[in-house]
Amino acid sequence: MTQPRSARFLIVGPQGSGKGTQGVLIAEAFGVPAVSTGDIFRANIAGETELGLQVQAIIESGELVPDALTSELVRDRLSQDDAAKGFLLDGYPRNRGQVADLDAFLGDRGESLDAVIELVVPRAESIERISKRAIEQGRTDDTEEVIANRLAIYERETAPILAVYRESGLVTEIDGVGGLDEVTSRIFAALAERGLVPPVAV
Ligand code: AMP
Repeated sequence: MTQPRSARFLIVGPQGSGKGTQGVLIAEAFGVPAVSTGDIFRANIAGETELGLQVQAIIESGELVPDALTSELVRDRLSQDDAAKGFLLDGYPRNRGQVADLDAFLGDRGESLDAVIELVVPRAESIERISKRAIEQGRTDDTEEVIANRLAIYERETAPILAVYRESGLVTEIDGVGGLDEVTSRIFAALAERGLVPPVAV
């Protein structure tokens, strides 16, 4: 089995679409790191780092962390050796400014994205899943009011970035409703149609 030249993916979907879980599975299969900006911020908050203290109040309100700070964090992470052949970004870019930042970073390196995976989940279903996660994980930004704010920001700022990537033919839309394995299979099938097949261990 030949290994794809690169595996640079974005996974985009509303909160509660399952993108975190699916993202990790895809990244593992392709042997690339799954980079979740939300996870990085949460780890910094838990570790009470300077960055954590800086972003805590913003995250608890459901607003977005400023682009300059977020993009710098992502550039640093993607510059590490393990991301040389690829990465799966979850939760970034989240608006047009971040799309431009990522484009500039990849462009400077002579790299480009291979696919943007859009997980499509109806609003009612995402709210139900986030409420369930709130009980299971106790995230401080999973309260009803903050969830509503985060979904509104997704619809206003993040959903429109898909139009940009759609123009470049990068977006593969995946029905995110169904069992975990079922959705994973749909993603792998859609990537395979684009010639993106995970390397097979021999
Ligand atoms: P997530 O786990 O992706 O839902 O992210 C949790 C929170 O982290 C978001 O509600 C934002 O406050 C912040 N965050 C995560 N990714 C970004 C990003 N790309 N730009 C700005 N803020 C972000």
